[in-house]
Amino acid sequence: MPGVEIASITKEFAGGVTALDALDLSIEDGEFFALLGPSGCGKTTLLRTIAGLEPATSGSLHIGERDVTGLPPGERNVAMVFQDYALYPHMTVRENIAYPLKIKKVARQQRNEEAEGAGGSLSLDALMDRRPGQLSGGQQQRVALARAIACRPDVFLFDEPLSNLDARLRLEARGFLKQLQHDLATTAVYVTHDQSEALALADRMAVMELGEIRQVGTPAALFHRPANLFVAGFIGSTPMNLITGVVGASGVAFAGGVLPVAETSAPHGADVVYGIRPEYVGLAGPGETLAGSVKVTENLGAQFLVTVELGEAQIRATVPEGEEPQIGDRVGVTPDARRALLYDAAEGTLLA
Ligand code: ATP
Repeated sequence: MPGVEIASITKEFAGGVTALDALDLSIEDGEFFALLGPSGCGKTTLLRTIAGLEPATSGSLHIGERDVTGLPPGERNVAMVFQDYALYPHMTVRENIAYPLKIKKVARQQRNEEAEGAGGSLSLDALMDRRPGQLSGGQQQRVALARAIACRPDVFLFDEPLSNLDARLRLEARGFLKQLQHDLATTAVYVTHDQSEALALADRMAVMELGEIRQVGTPAALFHRPANLFVAGFIGSTPMNLITGVVGASGVAFAGGVLPVAETSAPHGADVVYGIRPEYVGLAGPGETLAGSVKVTENLGAQFLVTVELGEAQIRATVPEGEEPQIGDRVGVTPDARRALLYDAAEGTLLA
């Protein structure tokens, strides 16, 4: 299956909004690629531009070897699955699934066979004669997916397809979506607000801000080595600790003490932001060099976090199992020096 090559795509809307700003992106053949970012960063515009629903102001777009920049949506061989499923209420499930094939002028018998096949692969066999109004949200979502599969597209484009489902169905749907994409080996571009969804589903992902891509990589790379402060602050269910300080002989000095660093090429005296995830900050007795009082406790089920005040700074730490520090307790914190990341304070970029 072909990949998608986006070269210097800009999209300006009337009124001077630059939704995509000379954006470059290579999505590989067969890859499940997630686009993540805050509201208004341009995710949906990028997806719609790939689909051909939004003409690019400049730049070029290839699907495999084909230059599709000027082609209408129907000639790009992509299938889009929307948040609201966009099913036709007056058609049966079978007719809904087969509809894009009808548009492509595929003969009735063949399109019914394709619809049965795609419906079967999503366990819709018993529902083929129902109308969308007679289906649950999860079933409607599967019909929308079956319709996309029946088209045998080169690329699936997903615009938050799970966001109308309740939490349990969403988790279930995540599993089958990933399995389906794996089995079909079709390139997929997946827009979501939900970073846990992106981290769980994607082979690689991009974090966007203001029409630009801030980082592209595997979920693990973005989680463990965010390339800049924007991504560091954005990725992670609990935000990364980010503490401003100055590089010294034994670590990063800040108002509350010295934070340990394993190794850095940052010069002494450099202004940096010290980044460390709460998962890598341990808790110890108040005898540690870094000690302060507990400000906030958060019991998250598998994880118990505390926010400790260190001078003017605060750091979130993970509480060892069995312990239950209380607000106001004096505790020590022990950041794992090997997990600490340093960012240039002015540029916000990761230092080696
Ligand atoms: P969300 O997560 O909220 O859906 P998004 O990242 O998908 O956001 P887009 O919908 O792509 O963001 O919008 C990007 C920018 O372009 C926003 O500033 C938005 O207001 C603007 N925009 C989107 N569509 C139009 C339009 N038709 N006309 C003018 N501006 C638009």
